[in-house]
Amino acid sequence: MIAAIQEVFSILKPHFTGDLLRPADHGYGEARAIWNGMLARTPGLIARCRNAADVQAAVRVGKTTETLTAVRCGGHSLAGFGTCDGGLVIDLSGMREVVVDVERRRARFGGGCLLGSVDSATQRVGLAFPSGVVSHTGAGGLVLGGGTGWLNRLHGLSCDNVEGFTLVIADGSVLRVSAAENPDLFWALRGGGGNFGVVTEFEVRLHPVTFVLLGKGMAFGEDIPRALQDWRDFMPDAPDHLRWGFSLRFAPDTESTPPRLRSRPVASASAVWIGDLDEGRRYIDRALARCEPSSVSKEVLSFLSLQTMADSDFPHGRRYYSKSGYFKSLDDHSIEAMASALSANPSATNEIELAYLGGAAARVSAEETAFGDRSSPFLMNLLGNWSNADGDAANIAWIRGVFAKLRPATTPGVYVNFMSADEEERVPEAYRTRWERLVAIKSKYDPGNFFRLNQNIPPQKATGSLLL
Ligand SMILES: Cc1cc2nc3c(=O)[nH]c(=O)nc-3n(C[C@H](O)[C@H](O)[C@H](O)COP(=O)(O)OP(=O)(O)OC[C@H]3O[C@@H](n4cnc5c(N)ncnc54)[C@H](O)[C@@H]3O)c2cc1C
Repeated sequence: MIAAIQEVFSILKPHFTGDLLRPADHGYGEARAIWNGMLARTPGLIARCRNAADVQAAVRVGKTTETLTAVRCGGHSLAGFGTCDGGLVIDLSGMREVVVDVERRRARFGGGCLLGSVDSATQRVGLAFPSGVVSHTGAGGLVLGGGTGWLNRLHGLSCDNVEGFTLVIADGSVLRVSAAENPDLFWALRGGGGNFGVVTEFEVRLHPVTFVLLGKGMAFGEDIPRALQDWRDFMPDAPDHLRWGFSLRFAPDTESTPPRLRSRPVASASAVWIGDLDEGRRYIDRALARCEPSSVSKEVLSFLSLQTMADSDFPHGRRYYSKSGYFKSLDDHSIEAMASALSANPSATNEIELAYLGGAAARVSAEETAFGDRSSPFLMNLLGNWSNADGDAANIAWIRGVFAKLRPATTPGVYVNFMSADEEERVPEAYRTRWERLVAIKSKYDPGNFFRLNQNIPPQKATGSLLL
Protein backbone atom coordinates (compact mmCIF):
# COMPACT_ATOMS: atom_id res chain seq x y z
CA MET A 1 0.00 0.00 0.00
CA ILE A 2 2.87 2.40 0.85
CA ALA A 3 4.45 1.90 -2.60
CA ALA A 4 1.07 2.28 -4.29
CA ILE A 5 0.21 5.49 -2.47
CA GLN A 6 3.63 6.91 -3.32
CA GLU A 7 2.82 6.19 -6.94
CA VAL A 8 -0.53 7.99 -6.56
CA PHE A 9 1.29 10.99 -5.11
CA SER A 10 3.87 11.06 -7.91
CA ILE A 11 1.26 10.84 -10.66
CA LEU A 12 -0.97 13.50 -9.11
CA LYS A 13 1.68 16.02 -8.12
CA PRO A 14 2.34 17.64 -11.51
CA HIS A 15 -1.35 18.27 -12.30
CA PHE A 16 -2.95 18.90 -8.95
CA THR A 17 -3.71 22.50 -7.94
CA GLY A 18 -4.94 21.75 -4.40
CA ASP A 19 -2.97 20.33 -1.45
CA LEU A 20 -1.52 16.84 -1.28
CA LEU A 21 -0.97 15.77 2.32
CA ARG A 22 0.94 12.70 3.44
CA PRO A 23 1.27 11.56 7.08
CA ALA A 24 4.52 13.45 7.70
CA ASP A 25 3.24 16.72 6.17
CA HIS A 26 2.32 19.81 8.14
CA GLY A 27 -1.48 20.02 8.36
CA TYR A 28 -2.03 16.30 7.87
CA GLY A 29 -3.16 15.71 11.48
CA GLU A 30 -5.93 18.25 11.17
CA ALA A 31 -6.85 17.19 7.65
CA ARG A 32 -7.29 13.55 8.56
CA ALA A 33 -9.76 14.21 11.39
CA ILE A 34 -13.36 13.16 10.91
CA TRP A 35 -16.34 13.88 13.14
CA ASN A 36 -16.72 10.40 14.66
CA GLY A 37 -13.60 9.94 16.82
CA MET A 38 -14.31 6.23 17.19
CA LEU A 39 -13.60 5.71 13.48
CA ALA A 40 -10.39 7.73 13.08
CA ARG A 41 -8.15 6.34 10.29
CA THR A 42 -4.75 7.08 8.78
CA PRO A 43 -5.01 7.63 5.02
CA GLY A 44 -1.84 7.38 2.95
CA LEU A 45 -2.67 10.54 1.01
CA ILE A 46 -5.25 13.29 1.39
CA ALA A 47 -5.92 15.09 -1.90
CA ARG A 48 -7.57 18.36 -0.96
CA CYS A 49 -9.14 19.40 -4.24
CA ARG A 50 -9.58 22.99 -5.34
CA ASN A 51 -11.77 22.39 -8.39
CA ALA A 52 -13.44 19.76 -10.57
CA ALA A 53 -10.21 19.16 -12.52
CA ASP A 54 -8.46 18.16 -9.28
CA VAL A 55 -11.31 15.76 -8.52
CA GLN A 56 -11.03 14.26 -12.00
CA ALA A 57 -7.28 13.79 -11.60
CA ALA A 58 -7.70 12.15 -8.19
CA VAL A 59 -10.45 9.80 -9.38
CA ARG A 60 -8.44 8.79 -12.47
CA VAL A 61 -5.28 8.00 -10.52
CA GLY A 62 -7.17 6.25 -7.72
CA LYS A 63 -8.95 4.10 -10.27
CA THR A 64 -5.98 3.23 -12.47
CA THR A 65 -3.77 2.33 -9.50
CA GLU A 66 -6.68 0.45 -7.83
CA THR A 67 -6.19 2.44 -4.64
CA LEU A 68 -8.79 2.28 -1.89
CA THR A 69 -10.41 5.72 -2.15
CA ALA A 70 -12.72 7.64 0.18
CA VAL A 71 -14.64 10.81 -0.66
CA ARG A 72 -15.07 13.41 2.05
CA CYS A 73 -17.20 16.54 2.27
CA GLY A 74 -17.95 17.46 5.91
CA GLY A 75 -16.55 14.24 7.41
CA HIS A 76 -19.80 13.61 9.34
CA SER A 77 -20.61 10.15 8.07
CA LEU A 78 -21.72 8.27 11.19
CA ALA A 79 -20.09 5.23 9.62
CA GLY A 80 -16.79 7.04 9.02
CA PHE A 81 -16.92 6.60 5.25
CA GLY A 82 -15.03 9.83 4.59
CA THR A 83 -11.68 8.25 5.43
CA CYS A 84 -9.71 5.02 5.14
CA ASP A 85 -6.48 3.41 6.32
CA GLY A 86 -3.53 3.65 3.95
CA GLY A 87 -5.54 4.74 0.90
CA LEU A 88 -6.51 7.99 -0.81
CA VAL A 89 -8.99 10.54 0.53
CA ILE A 90 -10.55 12.88 -2.01
CA ASP A 91 -11.15 15.82 0.33
CA LEU A 92 -13.65 18.37 -1.01
CA SER A 93 -13.28 20.89 1.81
CA GLY A 94 -11.47 23.28 -0.55
CA MET A 95 -14.62 23.51 -2.69
CA ARG A 96 -17.05 25.55 -0.62
CA GLU A 97 -18.12 28.32 -2.97
CA VAL A 98 -21.83 29.27 -2.89
CA VAL A 99 -23.44 31.39 -5.61
CA VAL A 100 -27.00 32.57 -5.04
CA ASP A 101 -29.37 33.71 -7.78
CA VAL A 102 -31.97 35.75 -5.90
CA GLU A 103 -34.29 36.29 -8.85
CA ARG A 104 -34.60 32.61 -9.68
CA ARG A 105 -34.37 31.48 -6.04
CA ARG A 106 -31.57 29.10 -6.91
CA ALA A 107 -28.11 28.42 -5.52
CA ARG A 108 -25.10 26.57 -6.82
CA PHE A 109 -22.70 25.29 -4.22
CA GLY A 110 -19.46 23.32 -4.21
CA GLY A 111 -19.39 19.61 -3.40
CA GLY A 112 -17.44 20.27 -0.19
CA CYS A 113 -19.85 22.74 1.43
CA LEU A 114 -20.98 22.46 5.02
CA LEU A 115 -24.63 23.26 5.73
CA GLY A 116 -23.45 26.43 7.45
CA SER A 117 -21.68 27.66 4.28
CA VAL A 118 -24.92 27.30 2.32
CA ASP A 119 -27.11 28.84 5.04
CA SER A 120 -24.87 31.88 5.52
CA ALA A 121 -24.86 32.70 1.81
CA THR A 122 -28.57 32.12 1.21
CA GLN A 123 -29.71 33.94 4.38
CA ARG A 124 -27.95 37.10 3.24
CA VAL A 125 -30.81 37.46 0.76
CA GLY A 126 -33.55 35.97 2.94
CA LEU A 127 -33.62 32.55 1.31
CA ALA A 128 -33.08 29.06 2.70
CA PHE A 129 -32.24 25.60 1.42
CA PRO A 130 -34.00 22.76 3.28
CA SER A 131 -31.20 20.77 4.91
CA GLY A 132 -30.17 19.34 8.30
CA VAL A 133 -30.12 20.66 11.85
CA VAL A 134 -26.38 20.93 12.63
CA SER A 135 -24.44 23.49 10.62
CA HIS A 136 -21.08 21.69 10.66
CA THR A 137 -22.57 18.69 8.78
CA GLY A 138 -21.43 18.29 5.16
CA ALA A 139 -24.04 19.15 2.54
CA GLY A 140 -22.51 16.55 0.17
CA GLY A 141 -23.32 13.41 2.14
CA LEU A 142 -26.54 14.82 3.59
CA VAL A 143 -28.12 15.82 0.27
CA LEU A 144 -27.06 12.67 -1.57
CA GLY A 145 -28.60 10.47 1.13
CA GLY A 146 -31.85 12.51 1.31
CA GLY A 147 -31.58 15.25 3.92
CA THR A 148 -34.15 15.83 6.67
CA GLY A 149 -34.43 18.96 8.78
CA TRP A 150 -36.64 21.78 10.06
CA LEU A 151 -37.96 22.71 6.60
CA ASN A 152 -38.69 19.27 5.19
CA ARG A 153 -42.40 19.22 6.07
CA LEU A 154 -42.94 22.56 4.36
CA HIS A 155 -40.50 22.29 1.45
CA GLY A 156 -39.47 18.64 1.11
CA LEU A 157 -36.21 16.80 1.70
CA SER A 158 -32.91 18.31 0.63
CA CYS A 159 -32.75 15.93 -2.33
CA ASP A 160 -36.26 17.01 -3.42
CA ASN A 161 -34.90 20.53 -3.87
CA VAL A 162 -32.02 19.64 -6.19
CA GLU A 163 -32.27 20.82 -9.80
CA GLY A 164 -28.93 19.51 -11.00
CA PHE A 165 -25.55 18.03 -10.19
CA THR A 166 -22.11 18.20 -11.76
CA LEU A 167 -20.66 14.73 -11.32
CA VAL A 168 -17.24 13.15 -11.84
CA ILE A 169 -17.83 9.46 -12.53
CA ALA A 170 -15.45 6.53 -12.03
CA ASP A 171 -13.76 6.87 -15.44
CA GLY A 172 -12.90 10.48 -14.59
CA SER A 173 -15.33 12.13 -16.99
CA VAL A 174 -17.61 14.98 -15.92
CA LEU A 175 -21.35 14.66 -16.42
CA ARG A 176 -24.08 17.20 -16.11
CA VAL A 177 -27.02 15.59 -14.32
CA SER A 178 -30.58 16.96 -14.25
CA ALA A 179 -34.11 15.93 -15.18
CA ALA A 180 -33.12 16.49 -18.82
CA GLU A 181 -29.52 15.24 -18.82
CA ASN A 182 -28.61 11.75 -17.59
CA PRO A 183 -32.02 11.32 -15.92
CA ASP A 184 -31.10 7.86 -14.59
CA LEU A 185 -28.35 9.45 -12.49
CA PHE A 186 -30.64 12.33 -11.54
CA TRP A 187 -33.00 9.79 -10.01
CA ALA A 188 -30.20 7.80 -8.32
CA LEU A 189 -28.30 10.75 -6.85
CA ARG A 190 -31.38 11.89 -4.95
CA GLY A 191 -31.07 9.38 -2.12
CA GLY A 192 -28.52 6.87 -3.45
CA GLY A 193 -25.59 8.44 -1.58
CA GLY A 194 -22.02 8.60 -2.87
CA ASN A 195 -22.26 5.43 -4.95
CA PHE A 196 -22.19 6.99 -8.41
CA GLY A 197 -19.36 9.50 -8.41
CA VAL A 198 -18.15 12.73 -6.86
CA VAL A 199 -20.53 15.69 -7.01
CA THR A 200 -18.46 18.81 -7.57
CA GLU A 201 -21.45 21.15 -7.67
CA PHE A 202 -25.09 21.07 -6.59
CA GLU A 203 -27.77 23.34 -8.06
CA VAL A 204 -30.73 23.73 -5.70
CA ARG A 205 -34.03 25.54 -5.17
CA LEU A 206 -34.38 28.03 -2.30
CA HIS A 207 -37.36 29.27 -0.30
CA PRO A 208 -38.05 32.52 1.52
CA VAL A 209 -37.50 31.88 5.26
CA THR A 210 -35.79 34.32 7.60
CA PHE A 211 -37.19 33.64 11.06
CA VAL A 212 -39.14 30.93 12.87
CA LEU A 213 -41.01 30.43 16.13
CA LEU A 214 -39.27 27.88 18.33
CA GLY A 215 -40.86 26.22 21.35
CA LYS A 216 -38.99 23.95 23.72
CA GLY A 217 -40.00 21.98 26.77
CA MET A 218 -39.36 18.80 28.73
CA ALA A 219 -41.77 16.11 29.89
CA PHE A 220 -40.64 13.78 32.66
CA GLY A 221 -41.89 10.83 34.70
CA GLU A 222 -45.31 9.62 33.67
CA ASP A 223 -45.66 12.52 31.30
CA ILE A 224 -42.99 11.07 28.99
CA PRO A 225 -45.27 8.41 27.45
CA ARG A 226 -48.23 10.79 27.56
CA ALA A 227 -46.31 13.46 25.64
CA LEU A 228 -45.24 10.94 23.01
CA GLN A 229 -48.77 9.56 22.62
CA ASP A 230 -50.10 13.06 22.23
CA TRP A 231 -47.48 13.83 19.57
CA ARG A 232 -48.18 10.56 17.74
CA ASP A 233 -51.91 11.29 17.63
CA PHE A 234 -51.57 14.96 16.72
CA MET A 235 -48.96 15.00 13.96
CA PRO A 236 -50.82 13.15 11.17
CA ASP A 237 -53.23 16.11 10.86
CA ALA A 238 -50.78 18.89 11.77
CA PRO A 239 -50.09 21.66 9.25
CA ASP A 240 -46.83 21.42 7.28
CA HIS A 241 -45.71 24.63 9.00
CA LEU A 242 -45.17 22.68 12.22
CA ARG A 243 -42.07 20.50 12.71
CA TRP A 244 -42.28 18.92 16.16
CA GLY A 245 -40.02 16.19 17.48
CA PHE A 246 -38.46 14.71 20.61
CA SER A 247 -35.15 13.72 22.07
CA LEU A 248 -35.38 11.19 24.90
CA ARG A 249 -32.33 11.66 27.10
CA PHE A 250 -31.08 12.88 30.46
CA ALA A 251 -31.82 16.57 31.00
CA PRO A 252 -28.59 18.57 31.05
CA ASP A 253 -27.25 19.49 34.45
CA THR A 254 -27.06 23.20 33.62
CA GLU A 255 -28.47 26.48 34.89
CA SER A 256 -30.97 26.65 32.06
CA THR A 257 -32.61 23.37 33.14
CA PRO A 258 -35.20 23.65 35.95
CA PRO A 259 -33.48 22.20 39.08
CA ARG A 260 -35.91 19.34 39.56
CA LEU A 261 -35.31 18.05 36.02
CA ARG A 262 -31.51 18.20 36.00
CA SER A 263 -29.88 14.87 35.04
CA ARG A 264 -33.28 13.16 35.03
CA PRO A 265 -34.63 11.17 32.07
CA VAL A 266 -36.86 13.46 30.01
CA ALA A 267 -38.59 13.70 26.67
CA SER A 268 -37.22 16.96 25.38
CA ALA A 269 -39.55 18.52 22.79
CA SER A 270 -38.58 20.98 20.08
CA ALA A 271 -41.37 22.46 18.01
CA VAL A 272 -40.70 24.85 15.16
CA TRP A 273 -43.34 26.90 13.39
CA ILE A 274 -42.59 28.53 10.06
CA GLY A 275 -45.27 31.03 9.09
CA ASP A 276 -47.81 33.33 10.74
CA LEU A 277 -46.68 33.89 14.34
CA ASP A 278 -50.11 34.19 16.00
CA GLU A 279 -51.25 30.94 14.50
CA GLY A 280 -47.86 29.41 15.38
CA ARG A 281 -48.12 30.37 19.06
CA ARG A 282 -51.35 28.41 19.35
CA TYR A 283 -49.75 25.33 17.82
CA ILE A 284 -46.60 25.57 19.90
CA ASP A 285 -48.62 25.95 23.14
CA ARG A 286 -50.62 22.93 22.11
CA ALA A 287 -47.44 20.94 21.36
CA LEU A 288 -45.80 21.70 24.71
CA ALA A 289 -48.90 21.18 26.87
CA ARG A 290 -47.55 17.97 28.42
CA CYS A 291 -44.20 19.50 29.34
CA GLU A 292 -43.17 20.66 32.80
CA PRO A 293 -44.32 24.35 32.76
CA SER A 294 -41.03 25.67 34.19
CA SER A 295 -39.14 24.05 31.29
CA VAL A 296 -41.22 25.62 28.52
CA SER A 297 -39.81 28.45 26.41
CA LYS A 298 -40.99 30.14 23.24
CA GLU A 299 -39.02 32.54 21.09
CA VAL A 300 -38.84 34.00 17.64
CA LEU A 301 -35.39 33.47 16.27
CA SER A 302 -33.52 33.89 13.03
CA PHE A 303 -33.23 30.95 10.70
CA LEU A 304 -29.44 31.06 11.11
CA SER A 305 -29.80 30.79 14.92
CA LEU A 306 -32.13 27.82 14.49
CA GLN A 307 -29.66 26.12 12.16
CA THR A 308 -26.76 26.48 14.59
CA MET A 309 -28.49 25.98 17.96
CA ALA A 310 -27.61 22.26 18.16
CA ASP A 311 -24.01 22.61 16.91
CA SER A 312 -22.37 22.31 20.32
CA ASP A 313 -24.38 19.20 21.27
CA PHE A 314 -22.48 17.11 18.70
CA PRO A 315 -18.81 18.07 18.92
CA HIS A 316 -16.13 16.66 16.63
CA GLY A 317 -13.95 13.86 17.96
CA ARG A 318 -16.33 12.21 20.43
CA ARG A 319 -17.39 8.61 19.93
CA TYR A 320 -20.70 8.01 18.17
CA TYR A 321 -22.79 5.00 17.19
CA SER A 322 -26.32 4.84 15.81
CA LYS A 323 -29.19 2.58 14.82
CA SER A 324 -32.20 3.88 13.02
CA GLY A 325 -35.61 2.79 11.83
CA TYR A 326 -39.06 3.95 10.72
CA PHE A 327 -42.46 3.36 12.27
CA LYS A 328 -45.64 3.57 10.23
CA SER A 329 -47.48 4.03 13.51
CA LEU A 330 -46.05 4.20 16.99
CA ASP A 331 -47.74 1.80 19.41
CA ASP A 332 -47.93 2.29 23.17
CA HIS A 333 -45.65 -0.67 23.76
CA SER A 334 -42.82 0.93 21.72
CA ILE A 335 -43.33 4.22 23.52
CA GLU A 336 -43.06 2.47 26.89
CA ALA A 337 -39.95 0.59 25.72
CA MET A 338 -38.27 3.86 24.71
CA ALA A 339 -39.17 5.59 27.97
CA SER A 340 -37.97 2.72 30.13
CA ALA A 341 -34.73 2.28 28.11
CA LEU A 342 -33.52 5.61 29.44
CA SER A 343 -33.04 4.26 32.96
CA ALA A 344 -30.24 1.91 31.74
CA ASN A 345 -28.61 4.49 29.46
CA PRO A 346 -24.85 4.49 30.19
CA SER A 347 -24.03 7.97 28.86
CA ALA A 348 -25.53 11.36 29.76
CA THR A 349 -25.39 12.35 26.10
CA ASN A 350 -26.95 9.28 24.46
CA GLU A 351 -30.40 9.93 23.07
CA ILE A 352 -33.38 8.52 21.25
CA GLU A 353 -34.29 11.04 18.58
CA LEU A 354 -37.81 11.02 17.17
CA ALA A 355 -38.92 13.04 14.15
CA TYR A 356 -42.22 13.12 12.33
CA LEU A 357 -41.66 13.54 8.58
CA GLY A 358 -44.79 13.59 6.38
CA GLY A 359 -45.72 16.94 4.80
CA ALA A 360 -44.16 17.90 1.47
CA ALA A 361 -41.58 15.09 1.68
CA ALA A 362 -44.37 12.50 1.84
CA ARG A 363 -46.17 13.96 -1.17
CA VAL A 364 -43.27 13.10 -3.50
CA SER A 365 -44.02 9.69 -4.95
CA ALA A 366 -41.93 6.71 -3.84
CA GLU A 367 -40.58 6.11 -7.35
CA GLU A 368 -39.66 9.71 -8.14
CA THR A 369 -36.30 9.58 -6.36
CA ALA A 370 -34.05 6.86 -4.95
CA PHE A 371 -34.61 8.09 -1.36
CA GLY A 372 -35.49 5.32 1.10
CA ASP A 373 -38.91 5.62 2.64
CA ARG A 374 -41.54 8.35 2.47
CA SER A 375 -44.48 6.30 3.67
CA SER A 376 -43.52 5.78 7.33
CA PRO A 377 -43.57 9.17 8.99
CA PHE A 378 -42.00 8.31 12.36
CA LEU A 379 -38.22 8.37 12.06
CA MET A 380 -36.24 7.10 15.04
CA ASN A 381 -32.50 7.51 15.49
CA LEU A 382 -30.80 5.93 18.50
CA LEU A 383 -27.65 7.99 18.85
CA GLY A 384 -24.84 6.97 21.18
CA ASN A 385 -22.49 9.85 22.07
CA TRP A 386 -19.72 9.35 24.65
CA SER A 387 -16.14 10.44 25.23
CA ASN A 388 -13.74 7.55 25.93
CA ALA A 389 -12.85 4.26 24.29
CA ASP A 390 -13.49 2.43 27.55
CA GLY A 391 -17.16 3.33 27.12
CA ASP A 392 -17.44 1.73 23.67
CA ALA A 393 -18.74 -1.67 24.74
CA ALA A 394 -21.42 -0.41 27.14
CA ASN A 395 -22.73 2.32 24.86
CA ILE A 396 -22.81 0.21 21.71
CA ALA A 397 -24.51 -2.60 23.65
CA TRP A 398 -27.14 -0.17 24.93
CA ILE A 399 -27.96 1.10 21.43
CA ARG A 400 -28.12 -2.43 20.02
CA GLY A 401 -30.25 -3.66 22.91
CA VAL A 402 -32.80 -0.83 22.59
CA PHE A 403 -32.92 -1.33 18.84
CA ALA A 404 -33.47 -5.09 19.19
CA LYS A 405 -36.46 -4.42 21.47
CA LEU A 406 -38.00 -1.87 19.12
CA ARG A 407 -37.23 -3.48 15.79
CA PRO A 408 -40.25 -5.82 15.61
CA ALA A 409 -42.55 -2.79 15.64
CA THR A 410 -40.64 -0.86 12.95
CA THR A 411 -41.46 -0.98 9.25
CA PRO A 412 -38.75 -2.41 6.97
CA GLY A 413 -36.46 0.39 5.86
CA VAL A 414 -33.76 2.64 7.21
CA TYR A 415 -32.49 6.11 6.36
CA VAL A 416 -28.98 5.59 4.91
CA ASN A 417 -27.57 8.74 6.47
CA PHE A 418 -28.30 7.47 9.98
CA MET A 419 -26.68 4.06 9.49
CA SER A 420 -23.53 2.88 11.21
CA ALA A 421 -20.55 1.11 9.66
CA ASP A 422 -21.69 -2.38 10.67
CA GLU A 423 -25.00 -2.43 8.82
CA GLU A 424 -23.99 -3.43 5.31
CA GLU A 425 -26.74 -6.04 5.18
CA ARG A 426 -29.38 -3.35 5.74
CA VAL A 427 -28.50 -1.34 2.60
CA PRO A 428 -30.97 -3.26 0.35
CA GLU A 429 -33.56 -2.79 3.10
CA ALA A 430 -32.95 0.97 2.90
CA TYR A 431 -33.92 1.06 -0.79
CA ARG A 432 -36.36 -1.87 -1.06
CA THR A 433 -38.33 -1.52 -4.33
CA ARG A 434 -35.69 0.86 -5.68
CA TRP A 435 -32.78 -1.54 -5.13
CA GLU A 436 -32.63 -3.27 -8.52
CA ARG A 437 -32.83 -0.02 -10.43
CA LEU A 438 -30.00 1.36 -8.27
CA VAL A 439 -27.87 -1.74 -8.90
CA ALA A 440 -28.41 -1.35 -12.67
CA ILE A 441 -27.36 2.33 -12.60
CA LYS A 442 -24.36 1.53 -10.41
CA SER A 443 -23.34 -1.22 -12.85
CA LYS A 444 -23.52 1.22 -15.75
CA TYR A 445 -21.51 4.08 -14.20
CA ASP A 446 -19.20 2.33 -11.70
CA PRO A 447 -18.92 -1.32 -12.79
CA GLY A 448 -15.71 -1.86 -10.77
CA ASN A 449 -17.23 -0.44 -7.56
CA PHE A 450 -14.51 2.20 -7.29
CA PHE A 451 -16.85 4.27 -5.08
CA ARG A 452 -17.40 1.66 -2.40
CA LEU A 453 -16.70 3.45 0.87
CA ASN A 454 -20.36 4.33 1.37
CA GLN A 455 -23.60 2.50 2.20
CA ASN A 456 -22.71 0.44 -0.78
CA ILE A 457 -24.85 -0.59 -3.72
CA PRO A 458 -22.62 -3.20 -5.38
CA PRO A 459 -22.64 -3.39 -9.19
CA GLN A 460 -23.60 -6.57 -10.97
CA LYS A 461 -20.70 -8.79 -12.04
CA ALA A 462 -20.66 -9.92 -15.66
CA THR A 463 -22.14 -13.21 -14.39
CA GLY A 464 -25.10 -11.41 -12.85
CA SER A 465 -24.07 -11.74 -9.20
CA LEU A 466 -23.24 -8.70 -7.11
CA LEU A 467 -19.63 -7.49 -6.94
CA LEU A 468 -18.92 -7.18 -3.25
C1 LIG B 1 -23.89 16.06 13.95
C2 LIG B 1 -24.70 15.46 12.84
C3 LIG B 1 -25.95 15.96 12.54
C4 LIG B 1 -26.69 15.42 11.51
N1 LIG B 1 -27.93 15.93 11.23
C5 LIG B 1 -28.63 15.46 10.18
C6 LIG B 1 -29.87 16.04 9.83
O1 LIG B 1 -30.36 16.94 10.47
N2 LIG B 1 -30.52 15.52 8.76
C7 LIG B 1 -30.00 14.50 8.01
O2 LIG B 1 -30.64 14.11 7.04
N3 LIG B 1 -28.82 13.94 8.32
C8 LIG B 1 -28.13 14.39 9.39
N4 LIG B 1 -26.95 13.81 9.72
C9 LIG B 1 -26.47 12.66 8.95
C10 LIG B 1 -25.71 13.15 7.73
O3 LIG B 1 -26.64 13.37 6.70
C11 LIG B 1 -24.68 12.11 7.28
O4 LIG B 1 -23.80 11.85 8.33
C12 LIG B 1 -23.92 12.58 6.04
O5 LIG B 1 -23.20 11.50 5.53
C13 LIG B 1 -22.96 13.69 6.36
O6 LIG B 1 -22.38 14.15 5.18
P1 LIG B 1 -20.84 14.62 5.12
O7 LIG B 1 -20.66 15.16 3.78
O8 LIG B 1 -20.52 15.47 6.29
O9 LIG B 1 -20.13 13.23 5.31
P2 LIG B 1 -18.70 12.70 4.79
O10 LIG B 1 -18.23 11.80 5.87
O11 LIG B 1 -17.85 13.79 4.32
O12 LIG B 1 -19.14 11.86 3.54
C14 LIG B 1 -19.93 10.72 3.72
C15 LIG B 1 -20.12 10.04 2.39
O13 LIG B 1 -20.95 10.86 1.58
C16 LIG B 1 -20.52 10.80 0.24
N5 LIG B 1 -20.21 12.16 -0.20
C17 LIG B 1 -20.06 13.28 0.55
N6 LIG B 1 -19.91 14.35 -0.25
C18 LIG B 1 -19.94 13.89 -1.50
C19 LIG B 1 -19.84 14.51 -2.78
N7 LIG B 1 -19.71 15.83 -2.92
N8 LIG B 1 -19.93 13.72 -3.88
C20 LIG B 1 -20.10 12.39 -3.76
N9 LIG B 1 -20.19 11.75 -2.60
C21 LIG B 1 -20.12 12.51 -1.48
C22 LIG B 1 -19.35 9.87 0.20
O14 LIG B 1 -19.81 8.58 -0.11
C23 LIG B 1 -18.85 9.86 1.61
O15 LIG B 1 -18.23 8.68 1.96
C24 LIG B 1 -26.18 14.34 10.74
C25 LIG B 1 -24.92 13.83 11.03
C26 LIG B 1 -24.19 14.38 12.07
C27 LIG B 1 -22.85 13.81 12.36
